[in-house]
Amino acid sequence: MKIDRLAFSGGGSAFAFTTERGVADSGNPYSEFNCCGYVGDEQSHVSACRAVLCDQIGIADGNLITVRQVHGTEVAVVDTVGCDFGEADALVTNLEGVAIGVFTADCVPMLFYDKQVGVIGAAHAGWKGTMSGIAAKTVAAMCRLGAAPERVQAVFGPSICRECFEVGDEVVEQFCERGLPADGIVFRNEVTGKAHIDLVAANRYWMLGCGMYERNIVETGLCTKCNPSRFFSARALGVASGRNLTGIFLR
Ligand SMILES: [Zn+2]
Repeated sequence: MKIDRLAFSGGGSAFAFTTERGVADSGNPYSEFNCCGYVGDEQSHVSACRAVLCDQIGIADGNLITVRQVHGTEVAVVDTVGCDFGEADALVTNLEGVAIGVFTADCVPMLFYDKQVGVIGAAHAGWKGTMSGIAAKTVAAMCRLGAAPERVQAVFGPSICRECFEVGDEVVEQFCERGLPADGIVFRNEVTGKAHIDLVAANRYWMLGCGMYERNIVETGLCTKCNPSRFFSARALGVASGRNLTGIFLR
């Protein structure tokens, strides 16, 4: 297993991270390090991975909160530990020592942080969540806990790059119907003629639209599909595979 620290542009003491597969067995799509319990992996393996992660990042067992993600726009407000937050695609909290995280394998993981008031968020955005503005909805949920958009910092974890993310024209049409600009978000491959979407750019559009500042947004620039031995990638490994976990906690 391997844990990468993610850094916000404006610093702060929050611990932000993303997991890597580690020493992956190429014949096993859940190898080596998978913390997601609803994608077909053995529960014993998932539990062991989660325990190792909590130990490595220095939080109590059971203080790693994740949800069953459904490509919607629900934001779970984590105000206690030890309960099941059900289905959602983003989480926010102001509790110290409680890590919130999202699972992805090509979709876009985003972490948010207002260091002044100590409020954090984590969101998962595939094309549906991206199109529906889950990034802005997560920031709005943080603001209900006292955060302010002009102070919120964001960092993207690894996700599919625009060259790898080919989509059908019907997806592009839905993006445009939602009011997202094609400029800087939709591209056309000149060889294949196929449309491509830059999911990070589209999520950045929502962040700026809700009042966040450009200087507070950091991109990782790492593509999951281009690096399937390093990161889980649904397009490279199939949907029955592990997930990268991108998370954050206040300390
Ligand atoms: Zn790529």
